[in-house]
Amino acid sequence: MKNEWNKRTKAVHAGTRRSQYNEVSEAIFLTQGFVYPTAEAAEARFIESGPDEFIYARYGNPTVAMFEDRIAAIEGAEDGFATASGMAAVNGALMSMLSAGDHVVSARALFGSCLYILENILTRFGVEVTFVDGTDLDQWAAAIRADTKAVFFESISNPTLQVVDITAVSKLAHAVGASVVVDNVFSTPIYSNAIAQGADVVVYSATKHIDGQGRALGGVILGTKAFIRGTVEPYLKHTGGAMSPFTAWMMLKGLETMDLRVRAQTFAATRIADGLVGHSKLAQVIYPGHDSHPQYQLTMDQLGAGGTVIAIDCGSQAAAFSLMNALEIFLISNNLGDAKSIATHPATTTHQRLSDAQRDSLGITPGLIRLSIGLEDAEDLLADLMNGLKTL
Ligand SMILES: *Cc1c(COP(=O)(O)O)cnc(C)c1O
Repeated sequence: MKNEWNKRTKAVHAGTRRSQYNEVSEAIFLTQGFVYPTAEAAEARFIESGPDEFIYARYGNPTVAMFEDRIAAIEGAEDGFATASGMAAVNGALMSMLSAGDHVVSARALFGSCLYILENILTRFGVEVTFVDGTDLDQWAAAIRADTKAVFFESISNPTLQVVDITAVSKLAHAVGASVVVDNVFSTPIYSNAIAQGADVVVYSATKHIDGQGRALGGVILGTKAFIRGTVEPYLKHTGGAMSPFTAWMMLKGLETMDLRVRAQTFAATRIADGLVGHSKLAQVIYPGHDSHPQYQLTMDQLGAGGTVIAIDCGSQAAAFSLMNALEIFLISNNLGDAKSIATHPATTTHQRLSDAQRDSLGITPGLIRLSIGLEDAEDLLADLMNGLKTL
């Protein structure tokens, strides 16, 4: 692999393995297993298999390996393990590295299912979890202890778009030997420099920008070869949760166009945020790429762009529903990073499970709408929103 290639070139070519037919487009190896020429060869492969020698698709398949190698190259990680969903990746990264008695510090502002793993699952297995305001470095410093094993956060939180300083939190974590696990979905592999900035493990839901076309669930855990093959693979190999070869093929095709899509969506999001900030019917417009965002400078230093998601607060649930019901282009759904623009009301959907107090503490107000900006024309999208705002 040519390490000096830029991300956009890697997104098209990295990790490609060609069969004896030298196909142009990546082959889909829809096979669960692999044949050994002799019994001795089978025995040898179970002792140690080479990079192009596979045993069973739960932990290795040529199409899945192409996806793992390509996304690892884009992210600048040594290796990756592809999973059936983003949540399988978050769960796999944390469960594979933690044991009873370990201490974890996590940002509080998390996607609902991430919060469930930290708050309800890890704790059942004797892992102690301390939650902090991810934007407050003093809270991180106070919570990280000599025995802290890992820190976890979403680099841009879902859905309130708080930005966590990867470099600063990594310094605090590394001072006590703790691993830094970053859920990097909103930052996208295009703008991410998470590993260079200090992250040890980067997790993506491939369902979002990597597929980018709303077709399939997927995820990936990225890190050092020692962590991926020594810690993650044994856990996922024996517990399942692998990505299917067909999904890996879709994700490979998604990666080819990801740079173009994410940049176009971010360009449109920036235009739309500019058009919405200061609107008389909106209590708040949250976009990390707008200079009204409290971590605008950090966002620009860390990512160089604000990403593809905007959050707006319409003041009340009734106003939020009225706006959403009036939209003609935005779909009411709950994916993000999709080619189609999507409006989500977190308080009644993705974060419904939380108590009012938990939602309050996360800034998930009754009027909050998450807007995932797609590939439609930015002016059409802005007009759609302005039209909806007239109903308030
Ligand atoms: C969507 C999402 C996930 C979960 O991914 P799935 O592919 O839906 O399992 C995890 N973290 C964040 C930040 C997400 O947005």
